Amino acid sequence: MPILGAHMSIAGGYYKAIANGVKETCDCIQLFTKNNNQWKAKPITDEDVRLFQQQLDDHDIVHTLSHASYLINLGSPKDELWKKSIDAFIVELQRASQLGIPYVVVHPGSFTTSTEAEGIGRIAEALNEIHRQTRGISSQCLLETTAGQGTNLGWKFEQLAEMIDQCENPDQVGICADTCHMFAAGYNLCDEAAYQDTWNEFDKLIGLEKLKAFHLNDSKREFASRKDRHEHIGQGHMGLAPFRLLVNDTRFANTPMYLETAKGDAEGEYEGMSWDAANLKVLRSLIQN
Ligand SMILES: [Zn+2]
Ligand SMILES: [Zn+2]
Repeated sequence: MPILGAHMSIAGGYYKAIANGVKETCDCIQLFTKNNNQWKAKPITDEDVRLFQQQLDDHDIVHTLSHASYLINLGSPKDELWKKSIDAFIVELQRASQLGIPYVVVHPGSFTTSTEAEGIGRIAEALNEIHRQTRGISSQCLLETTAGQGTNLGWKFEQLAEMIDQCENPDQVGICADTCHMFAAGYNLCDEAAYQDTWNEFDKLIGLEKLKAFHLNDSKREFASRKDRHEHIGQGHMGLAPFRLLVNDTRFANTPMYLETAKGDAEGEYEGMSWDAANLKVLRSLIQN
């Protein structure tokens, strides 16, 4: 059975993300360990950790995932932002490790005024510095596949492979695959043959063993648009086919899959439910025995 969950808010405390996720029928939960639009963060207290662990134990949630701040740019050519990003990502790993969260997902970065190759080099160099400063910390980094907006890197498997190859500790870097981003980047998952080709290519260039998590999102924008706009499952340009293939793919049966779709009250067929519960219901309805 696939492991299905969603990104949940930490408003009111970390343990609330778990409690609310359980209410939405999540098997796994992604969260921010700090405000994602700010550099600063209040320290995590022992009481925060205790309450969080308690909720996990009470509800049998095995997989948790942290998503790093959107301000971080490990590919920046500007030294000040690059160093600030390294420091901030180290804090992200420390906070995740405090809460017992095994991985922190980060968008690899943007090259802005430099070049693709320079950006990739900066990201690898940043990861090396992060690894040097986080020896003994249990949480590891997952680079997310991106949609390739603007100068964002990580939308081509070759770029992700290059970042990992240039790393001194490639074993400490994994991948989080976002379905909306992959579709926007021009990776077709929508029919069986294309789906298999895409994962074969991923396996050849990066290795399927590096794939530690999925973000399940449909896309508001068309195939290869390079635009990152999430849509409810089955209601966007991707439709249900890629999700049916994913939730039935035995290679990914132990890889947690998290929704990052819009919150709120569902409409139409799912009126009376929250959107998270509705999207999870749709995904579970696709599982074939
Ligand atoms: Zn994502
Ligand atoms: Zn996105």
